[in-house]
Amino acid sequence: MNLWFTEEQTDSLRLSFKVKKVLDYRKSKYQTLAVYETEQYGRLFTLDNFVMLTEKDEFVYHEMISHVALSCHPSPENILVIGGGDGGTIREIERHSRVKKITLVEIDEEVVNISKQHLPFVACGFNDKRVKVIIEDGIKYIKEHKNEYDIIVIDSTDPVAFAEGLFHTEFYQYVFDALKEDGIMVAQTEYPFLKSDFFKQIYTSLKKVFPIVSPYFAFIPTYPTGMWSFAFASKKYHYLKDLNPNFISEFENELKYYSTEIHRGAFAIPPFLKKIIQ
Ligand code: SAM
Repeated sequence: MNLWFTEEQTDSLRLSFKVKKVLDYRKSKYQTLAVYETEQYGRLFTLDNFVMLTEKDEFVYHEMISHVALSCHPSPENILVIGGGDGGTIREIERHSRVKKITLVEIDEEVVNISKQHLPFVACGFNDKRVKVIIEDGIKYIKEHKNEYDIIVIDSTDPVAFAEGLFHTEFYQYVFDALKEDGIMVAQTEYPFLKSDFFKQIYTSLKKVFPIVSPYFAFIPTYPTGMWSFAFASKKYHYLKDLNPNFISEFENELKYYSTEIHRGAFAIPPFLKKIIQ
């Protein structure tokens, strides 16, 4: 008998993975967490039955949410990550020896625990002595920090429940205030192919707060529609004019998706999306 995990991406779109084994299934006070061994994509981590990452394609998301901003900032010493409790984003940030301190603020400690138990390829991010993990709501945390961070990465779940506030204009203003005068914010901003109203709303909000704003894109096979978006929102540095290829030279050949060419291409906005956000 074949076992399948099916993600209900919308009420009329599903993605199914053939499962070899259910490795873990647990409930925290915030969400349901599960890890599966799948035929096609290796280990699969889900929260509330939504795909968070798979062993086979997580590198795309984690390289693209990290190296784009780090390649445009001349002195990214102090980094804040909100969400990202699996460790994949901080694993990528750690490649940059210019980074001196990484604070990860994750609301659900069970995410860190299940990742350390079953997802070593991302949980390895927790081994670096520059990392400090704080279990707290990022919406609360950000209000208590001003003019402190060079880069802030919002690596959150979808905009529902306790993550919903991470996509509000008010939150973006707090992020702006928590950044230094030349800081950059990056956030995952969902899939514009089917969420165009949401996409328009996010970029309208960000442009109210930051002087330099652009979406950029990557292809993530196991995320809905495969076309994933990220927001680059900056106080001073530009995502193309201030791109410095030397900033990844020490580890460039270890990367599997991000490159300087991919960086430049990722900011090309297809005409159908330009209409939505301009
Ligand atoms: N990095 C993965 C990926 O490849 O997309 C998924 C993102 S990570 C698992 C999303 C995290 O955001 C979850 O662990 C969730 O608990 C966390 N989160 C959601 N809302 C939050 C909030 N308000 N404050 C802190 N963490 C939050």
